Amino acid sequence: MTPVAVNLAAVQARIAAAAARAGRDPSSIRLLPISKTVPAERLREAIAGGVTDFGENRVQEAAAKAGLLGTSLSDPAAPRWVIVGHLQTNKAKLAVSFADEFQALDSLRLAAALDRALAATGRSLRVFVQVNTSGENTKFGLEPATLAPFLKELRAFDTLQPVGLMTLAAFTPDPERVRACFRLLRALGADFADAYSRPPELSMGMSGDFDAAIEEGATVVRVGQAIFGARPTNDAAYWPGLVPG
Ligand SMILES: *Cc1c(COP(=O)(O)O)cnc(C)c1O
Repeated sequence: MTPVAVNLAAVQARIAAAAARAGRDPSSIRLLPISKTVPAERLREAIAGGVTDFGENRVQEAAAKAGLLGTSLSDPAAPRWVIVGHLQTNKAKLAVSFADEFQALDSLRLAAALDRALAATGRSLRVFVQVNTSGENTKFGLEPATLAPFLKELRAFDTLQPVGLMTLAAFTPDPERVRACFRLLRALGADFADAYSRPPELSMGMSGDFDAAIEEGATVVRVGQAIFGARPTNDAAYWPGLVPG
């Protein structure tokens, strides 16, 4: 087995154990491998190990990898690309050209830009609305109190398919503060259910805390370093506005 395959198996075992603790079916939890900073060559290893979806924080980095590995939009056997980081409106068109899903929607301006780009191609896009549950990383994500009206306005965009909510927990070693973020996102799922008459998917939990996220109801966990190894870059470069707690 390759190192990536060994790590994938270990992550799957952690998912199964957390699901068992919470009395949940492990197949109701989707593992989204996060491949930012990982070169395309190593992604081929993950593909050989059965990975079909890759989450990337930056659209240009993702577009370069999609250029090398293909995209599900034109080849069903190629990877599905999921953008999990902040997107500038002027990159909406690029994102729509290769990405299958977007998990960091947090403004109507961006929704409108995505809608315009999608209308030109005739396709739709799965989106998660990002919520700021920590009160810390104030740059991105909606404030919880603004989620309900936002979701109602989002219904105007026919090309966007809202599937759920996404959050980054507080950056703190205090596990209870991290759990409080996950609980808040789950509670905010009621706003989504009100707006769309179905329960949301909840994208929450990363390498260090996805076990707790699953116990608190995550249906999508975004896991990078536990699969691909430690990143050489400082994460502050990917999360501007990050304030360590
Ligand atoms: C990098 C990243 C992750 C994964 O973090 P790891 O510590 O590598 O598991 C999850 N979500 C987002 C938005 C990220 O940018």
